[in-house]
Amino acid sequence: MTQTRFTYEGQTGPWEVLIGLEVHCQIHSASKLFSGAATTFGAAPNTQVDFFDAGFPGMLPVMNETCVAQAVKTGLGLHGQINLRSLFDRKNYFYPDLPSGYQISQHTNPIITGGYIDIDTDAGDVKRIDIERLHIETDAGKSIHDQDPSHSFIDLNRSGVALMEIVTAPAMHNVSEVSAFFNALRTLVRYLETCDGNMEQGSMRADVNVSVNRPGEGWGTRCEIKNLNSVRFMTQAIHVEAARQIELLEAGESILQETRLFDPVQGETRSMRSKEDAMDYRYFPDPDLPPLVLSAEFVKNIRDKMPELPGAKKARFMTAFGLPAYDASVLTGTREIAAYFEAALASMKSVAADPEKASKILANWAISEVFALLNQENLTISQTKVTPENLGELVDLILKDTISGKIAKEVFSVMWQTGKTPGLIVKEKGLEQVSDEGAIEASVSEILDQNPDKVADYRGGKDKLFGFFVGQVMKVMAGKANPKMVNDIIRRLLDETK
Ligand code: ADP
Ligand code: MG
Repeated sequence: MTQTRFTYEGQTGPWEVLIGLEVHCQIHSASKLFSGAATTFGAAPNTQVDFFDAGFPGMLPVMNETCVAQAVKTGLGLHGQINLRSLFDRKNYFYPDLPSGYQISQHTNPIITGGYIDIDTDAGDVKRIDIERLHIETDAGKSIHDQDPSHSFIDLNRSGVALMEIVTAPAMHNVSEVSAFFNALRTLVRYLETCDGNMEQGSMRADVNVSVNRPGEGWGTRCEIKNLNSVRFMTQAIHVEAARQIELLEAGESILQETRLFDPVQGETRSMRSKEDAMDYRYFPDPDLPPLVLSAEFVKNIRDKMPELPGAKKARFMTAFGLPAYDASVLTGTREIAAYFEAALASMKSVAADPEKASKILANWAISEVFALLNQENLTISQTKVTPENLGELVDLILKDTISGKIAKEVFSVMWQTGKTPGLIVKEKGLEQVSDEGAIEASVSEILDQNPDKVADYRGGKDKLFGFFVGQVMKVMAGKANPKMVNDIIRRLLDETK
């Protein structure tokens, strides 16, 4: 596995960038990590808050087994080590939206250690990004400052919601590796249904650690940029932070290890707190929570029910269907898309004759017609009227030469609008391709007779006129003539008396 390193050109020579991520994923679960309160997105403020989430004295946490199972499932998906014994610690700090005065997290003994995600690099290689750990923790509430000029409000609906924090090794060297990693992680958690991956709802956000160094030299001092909620912001923040560090170092100054915030409006990062005055969180094991001990059987039950992972599915689409890497990636982007493609393929009659050809043509239609329109109309695959079986039938009609590719586009657009089967549309509109040799020959003769000057020019060496004759024949036959036969017959008649 190769490393693709990106270098920034400074005033005094090149610099490399090193990036590590801490990604927070909200665990997909109906209730919170230690209380029975609901986690539905968009509920009215403070309507999903248990006494425990509000930090009432004497309230005890009750471990939510679903959340633990989800973390284990994610750990298995990351190929990590599942620790059968892990600990919960209190991370103490004051914040108005943290009523208990501490967050419950796993500091010293996380539930998962190690693991990796393989990403595709721009250079066309596969690169393995190592995961250091995955731990479970609670989220805090939310302070709202923009509703009133003189008051702030607190919404505790998020307080106590279960998060998984996934920490990568400092292993990424440019922004495309970062976005490839982040997207691969989001695809994975969505396949596993352990996090919905909806960034606009705050279900996934990342802290980005950035340092720069001279090629061949050791790592530089890093800064952490907190709480980025889109890949675009992550990318922008990395660029401006790397540029800031390079400028400082080239001016002979040094980098202070600190936590910074990204301001997308100003396009800069600003210091939040330095490591020197870093908070002392006074971590200690939560006295209300005994060590979390899992049985091997609990883990085995989860392992036995794991779905096929995105990487494995993509590899299978390449080997079993002979698809190129790009097609296989797109077609395995979500479980629903992959299932759609497989159902369409399974329904096709023309697969047996030439499976690779059938798969590739189906892939082209799925990607450049179905998915393109879904994107355009902002729909998901479950909302299209074109069933997988109907798409498969359309490709069958093309492969059987019943309709040409051009007519197929017309049929497809009716399928998209009405949900009718392609067979019915072809019949209703009389679109069946004409492969009758005599009929095509009659049309060709008619066109040649009408254009004696062009025929003479062609025979005199103006080869480009060939397309003109094809166009005219197609026109008189309403686009329904078998294109290959039209070409053959025109060529034969033109060459005959040359
Ligand atoms: P801390 O305990 O201070 O948070 P960690 O060792 O847990 O430190 O690292 C936090 C994150 O910083 C990880 O994602 C890691 O990959 C990243 N990181 C560590 N060293 C560097 C570095 N020199 N440059 C960029 N990122 C780094
Ligand atoms: Mg950390």
